[in-house]
Amino acid sequence: MYSLELRLSLSCYGSQSFFKGIVDSGLGFHLQYDMALLEIRVYPDPVLRNVAEEISEVTDETLKLVADMVETMRSARGAGLAANQIGIPVRIIVLESEAEKGPAKEALVVCNPVVVSQEGEDVGEEGCLSFPKFYEFVKRSNKVHVKGETLKKEPFEIICEGHLARAFQHEIDHLNGILFVDHLSPVKKSLFKKKYLKSEK
Ligand SMILES: [Zn+2]
Repeated sequence: MYSLELRLSLSCYGSQSFFKGIVDSGLGFHLQYDMALLEIRVYPDPVLRNVAEEISEVTDETLKLVADMVETMRSARGAGLAANQIGIPVRIIVLESEAEKGPAKEALVVCNPVVVSQEGEDVGEEGCLSFPKFYEFVKRSNKVHVKGETLKKEPFEIICEGHLARAFQHEIDHLNGILFVDHLSPVKKSLFKKKYLKSEK
């Protein structure tokens, strides 16, 4: 099992939305970026329904995108973010690792992730950065086996449960144009539409 973690050291340079970031590229060298906060697309933005494309090569642009995604996720206090949520339809997700402890924050970055098997059932409350202030209980698999690739284009594989398993299912759904509200019962779905779309106006 192998997981690549993106290590970021951040220090603010006066502006709220730009940071200097040092990114371990996973390629044996460090890249320094002006990191930017990206605009998170909010439901019902049609881009959220697009099926994202596979990442065939990791370029400097990809690494910059990942650094910005991590920064954007953290700034919005999210637990995960899929690239199409910031309007870029490629198969990359970033997640806060559950194992994260202490001040040295690390994020999990996976390209082309796929759930290869799943088991059990778990009902838990979910939110989504594309649905501000909306939370609802969603039934998911309790345990998932996810395969994908690291930023080095090496195989990534993880078997996880609980919150992290839920986060993987939620983010991989995004890459397929599926949103967490799609998992709600018809009654809850119509309540959501009435409540959420009304409050957006
Ligand atoms: Zn989401």
